[in-house]
Amino acid sequence: MTPFQQASFFASAAKAADLPPEGGPEIAFAGRSNVGKSSAINALTDRRRLAFVSKTPGRTQMINFFDLGGAGWLVDLPGYGYAKVPQELREGWEELVGGYLARRGSLAGVVALVDARHPLTAHDRRLLEWLRPRALPCLVLLTKSDKLQRRERLRVLERVRRELAEAAIAAQAMLFSSSSRDGVEEARALLEGWLRDAGPGARNKRPPAKGKSTGG
Ligand code: GDP
Repeated sequence: MTPFQQASFFASAAKAADLPPEGGPEIAFAGRSNVGKSSAINALTDRRRLAFVSKTPGRTQMINFFDLGGAGWLVDLPGYGYAKVPQELREGWEELVGGYLARRGSLAGVVALVDARHPLTAHDRRLLEWLRPRALPCLVLLTKSDKLQRRERLRVLERVRRELAEAAIAAQAMLFSSSSRDGVEEARALLEGWLRDAGPGARNKRPPAKGKSTGG
């Protein structure tokens, strides 16, 4: 089994102080609520309900950590850009997620999930621009690609690649569908490459705390 196929829930963090100690490369998944992030994580890990842990009451605004069989961590960031979220929650998100993305030393790369039908919203661009100074590997996954016709899909992919280049954002873009499994193997291979590139010394060093929430 590959690291992603060995994923298991590790812990949740509601605030910066609750983040597990650094150790081993982390791949963070970020995206607007409802973009298909949980479905993508489930598809990449070959698990039907793994990421729905992040959707259980009390965990939706937390950063959720999944152990990738000792090879690294999958980090599910709370969804952003949800219009109905009160100001207070939005500020909390910026502090927790913004702080994580800006300062986490073990962050090895970021997967930005973007709806293929509404590519690169202002929120998506803001996230990518936020990440630019860190110069981390970044993958834009164009989700729900099955909802577009083949020709449209390719047009969207081309357009997103061009827009990223124009904005000087060094991110790769890929079409993805959890339903049709378009892009699943390709994305998994790329992300597992990021884990390997993070180096042999980058294996997990955290104490086992499976299933335990540090978020209260
Ligand atoms: P999250 O809020 O970003 O975690 O999104 P979810 O994974 O919960 O998906 C939101 C909605 O989009 C659900 O109704 C999913 O069934 C649907 N969805 C997710 N991925 C796909 C996909 O690849 N294709 C299609 N057609 N629908 C999808």
